[in-house]
Amino acid sequence: MDYVFSPPAPVVLPVLGSPALFPVHRIYCVGRNYADHAREMGHSGREAPFFFAKPADAALAIAPGVTATLNYPSQTGDLQYETELVVALGGAGNDLDPAVAGSLIWGYGVGIDLTRRDLQAEAKKQGRPWEISKGFDHSAPVSAIRPVAQSGRIDRGRIWLEVNGERRQDGDLSSMIWGVDQIIAQLSRYFALAPGDLVFTGTPAGVGALRAGDRLRAGIEGVGEISLAIARAA
Ligand code: MN
Repeated sequence: MDYVFSPPAPVVLPVLGSPALFPVHRIYCVGRNYADHAREMGHSGREAPFFFAKPADAALAIAPGVTATLNYPSQTGDLQYETELVVALGGAGNDLDPAVAGSLIWGYGVGIDLTRRDLQAEAKKQGRPWEISKGFDHSAPVSAIRPVAQSGRIDRGRIWLEVNGERRQDGDLSSMIWGVDQIIAQLSRYFALAPGDLVFTGTPAGVGALRAGDRLRAGIEGVGEISLAIARAA
């Protein structure tokens, strides 16, 4: 096969306990899936969650024990973190029943849904799309994937984030408005789900701004941890 230029390298994540890599297909995200976070964003906490997406190559793989460095992104003065359980799919499906949706789960990761909050607020006000606020380069740092075969189902457990050693988010996965089976089933009504898809499942309360020089550490009980340092723009 001849290409007019070299095709991009696949986007991959490390896998805990294996040298094999998890190839990323698409990145879906759920908005306002924890009532306490919906309220801190100025909503009632009773609205149904909704979906948006990031490009696959927005994923920034962070191996265990490594602190990745991310340059403070351009065109924002309000970069914010959102710690989220990432569900990594290993199967395909459309129009799935929640009772079978869990069979698509291949594993789990810890993700940060990085957001240019100022641009998102402007997009909301103007009724415009969210891409420039949510889908920018490296906007989806993700830990190594822990296979479900190793962890078992992860439907509860602590989800937390620290900035410079100070606890900022501290929730429990059991507080999700839509659980993981419901999220997968709902998504499969709108998109053909495929192996390699990542689903960011929403963040608990406590989101906030990051500055150059900040160090983040986030974790999910039973899944793992992720470390990130924010550098000044190059
Ligand atoms: Mn989010």
